[in-house]
Amino acid sequence: MAAACHLPASAITDVLPQWFASRAAACDDLAASGRLQPGDAGCLAALTGVTEAVPCSALPALAGTSDGRPPVRATRACWRCAARTGCNGPVPVHLPAHQKACARHRIWTGRAIQADLASAPDIIRACQHAWRLARWHGITWLVLAETTARQQANDAAHNRAMVSQRAAALAASNGVDPEDPDIAEAARYPETIARAAVILRSAARPGGPE
Ligand SMILES: [Zn+2]
Repeated sequence: MAAACHLPASAITDVLPQWFASRAAACDDLAASGRLQPGDAGCLAALTGVTEAVPCSALPALAGTSDGRPPVRATRACWRCAARTGCNGPVPVHLPAHQKACARHRIWTGRAIQADLASAPDIIRACQHAWRLARWHGITWLVLAETTARQQANDAAHNRAMVSQRAAALAASNGVDPEDPDIAEAARYPETIARAAVILRSAARPGGPE
């Protein structure tokens, strides 16, 4: 919100309860320290000139409860989306846990690196497949299936060659190291999602979506 208001984070956290500052320092508003108090969301809304419903729907920590809330991951906003709103620095955000890339700009939003996916169209297709799987099975089941799929490393020589080829293409077009963990995860993503789809299909209940 500080970035959206073009203010330093301290200008906001200095006049709010302490837990806002500790979570902002961790770049994670779901970090464990501090507790949401009645009125906190209203303070933040009043300070930034929006209605209380805006921060409550945008910031998971202010929603008050995790019941029924889809799982999220703390990351940085797609740099091109942030630039459209005038934010040129890194903007910490929570995204749905399965969302690995910006659909609008086709940019992989890794932990440390954001990579343009133009040189790897099969990763873009895998992202679209993941969205469909999330719609059919739910985000939680997809994320669990992805974790299992990653653990079941596929040793097929054909797949290894495809993954190396993708990592090399991403590294060359983005000027980064092909061994970087974010690039490696992106390069493996089509195989991960294909395997996750098989896992979800085999686990689907009779009469379920697949
Ligand atoms: Zn974007």
